[in-house]
Amino acid sequence: MQMNTMTCKQLGGACDKEFKANTFEEIAEQSKKHGMEMYQKGDKPHIEAMGKMKDLMQKPDAMKQWFEEKRKEFNTLPDQ
Ligand SMILES: [Zn+2]
Repeated sequence: MQMNTMTCKQLGGACDKEFKANTFEEIAEQSKKHGMEMYQKGDKPHIEAMGKMKDLMQKPDAMKQWFEEKRKEFNTLPDQ
């Protein structure tokens, strides 16, 4: 089974924590959860990163484009 790895940073976050998943939806969910945890801990870089993502979410077209770019990135990662 194919497992791809992306870091928090690659997914619009703020650290080098790695997530592993089979699908982009899964990895996006993991990074979101992690982002929320760090946000609740009051981690400043993550709060800033989440602020940027929130801005992005105000623009559905930009958000969609970002999502598609990341999905492409995820799907072209070499098998681990
Ligand atoms: Zn992080």
